[in-house]
Amino acid sequence: MSLNVEQIYKDANAYLEGHFLLSSGNHSQYYLQSAKVLENPKTAELLAKELANMIKEAGVKVDTVCSPALGGILAGYELARALGARFIFTERVEKVMTLRRGFEVSKDENILICEDIITTGGSALESAKAVEELGANIVGFAALANRGFCKREGSDITAKPDCKLPQDLPFFALDDFVFEIYSSESCPLCKDGSKAYKPGSRGN
Ligand code: ZN
Repeated sequence: MSLNVEQIYKDANAYLEGHFLLSSGNHSQYYLQSAKVLENPKTAELLAKELANMIKEAGVKVDTVCSPALGGILAGYELARALGARFIFTERVEKVMTLRRGFEVSKDENILICEDIITTGGSALESAKAVEELGANIVGFAALANRGFCKREGSDITAKPDCKLPQDLPFFALDDFVFEIYSSESCPLCKDGSKAYKPGSRGN
């Protein structure tokens, strides 16, 4: 039985409605705050196990899960536990995604990149490049939820031109969360007179 991921986000008050300023500069009426879902380790475990099953069923062999900090760390760590894999993370050093803290990657190590949410997949791709440069073999990408710009395995959504994930590697996610984003010029919420704010800046 597959999980109702949307309901899990709603129950955790992680599916926010408002007027949000996204890191891309665009505006949106909805925002997924995965940290609120993952604050409950039992929920994190449940989601990661489901994701791990999809990856195993697809026959993808994973030695190590790697996540871009900060957002991907909790989801990636739980996924690594569910897969019986190692876990490492990359972080930005002067804007460049880097492997630090003594983490090492061996040649041809099979690495899966995991995020909490994949929007265009920009950070995930940067993380992949950082470990690929050290000799790793990227076997795929994963996220709890897909925002609908990229095509996940088993979904009939087609990838949008903004998707940065490589087309030749599988992308696993539990569900698609497709909602519109607007440029600040064309945002209907702005036209109604409200002001966009960054998620987290008002206690959410
Ligand atoms: Zn707006």
